[in-house]
Amino acid sequence: PLEKMLPRVQKHHPGDGCLLVKKAYEFAENAHRGQVRKSGEPYFIHPVSVASILTDLMIDAPTIAAGFLHDTVEDCKDITLDTIRTEFGEEVAQLVDGVTKLDKLDFTNREEQKAESLRKMILAMSKDIRVVIIKLADRLHNMRTLRFQPEERQKAIAHETLDIYAPLAHRLGMNSIKSELEDLSFKYIDPEAFHDIAQKVGLRRTEREENIRMVISELSEKLDAQHIHYEMDGRPKHLYSIYKKMKGQGKTFDQIYDLIAVRVLVDTVQDCYTVLGIVHTLWNQIPGRFKDYISVPKGNMYQSLHTTVIGREAIPFEV
Ligand code: MN
Repeated sequence: PLEKMLPRVQKHHPGDGCLLVKKAYEFAENAHRGQVRKSGEPYFIHPVSVASILTDLMIDAPTIAAGFLHDTVEDCKDITLDTIRTEFGEEVAQLVDGVTKLDKLDFTNREEQKAESLRKMILAMSKDIRVVIIKLADRLHNMRTLRFQPEERQKAIAHETLDIYAPLAHRLGMNSIKSELEDLSFKYIDPEAFHDIAQKVGLRRTEREENIRMVISELSEKLDAQHIHYEMDGRPKHLYSIYKKMKGQGKTFDQIYDLIAVRVLVDTVQDCYTVLGIVHTLWNQIPGRFKDYISVPKGNMYQSLHTTVIGREAIPFEV
């Protein structure tokens, strides 16, 4: 795994950063030698996965190094925070210490209404926001491997993830981590509903991918004609958001049509509104669905324009 990761690390952190990450990898491999996860795999797989998730976020080298080291102080006798400080310096030591402190909190028995104050407590405890980011990567890998836990524990961890960690990811603007945490939690909290929606979404996959392709091609043509510089991608909505919509609006799966969303990234605010105009010229908008988060940003400072329009064969989609 290091062979795959290092080139990515090198790209963003040439020189010392890369050396630091390599050293942390080797240190953690040694420290966890002989330890085994509930899955039966070597424990070292876990810190490697956490560091790899962090690498994908294009975060700095000390954070990736701390990702490798995050469980060493807690789980390896002979290794103290002082060891980490001596080997890796104060910055990495502080990050590892922060994650170790968060790990000692167990929210699985708390009540849901306190979730907001618990999230605030986590943010307050982590003076350095990178600690929360490492914790989210840690939780993501633990959720991906949750099937090896006993059933009761699975549900408790899934609830904690949905109530506390997914909203934290949302607050930090880490949308793909938030979506994955939600879908994984959903799978353990309500397996029946999860598999039902997963199956229905699966049945329509080809149709949906075709829709995304058509929308992107039509819109690209217009943007190119206006010489707007953009990046565009389309994605199916994640399962938990479909489920929430069904529950929230009392609809069946077949009544939820806007299962796809297309995202356009442009260079300026002006271009955002130009693209919006082009979208509304190409397709009819659904009233009440337009949201201007540029003039009124979301609580987490998120800024963009959202609209839902009706595409071919009367299938709505979100832009
Ligand atoms: Mn861990």
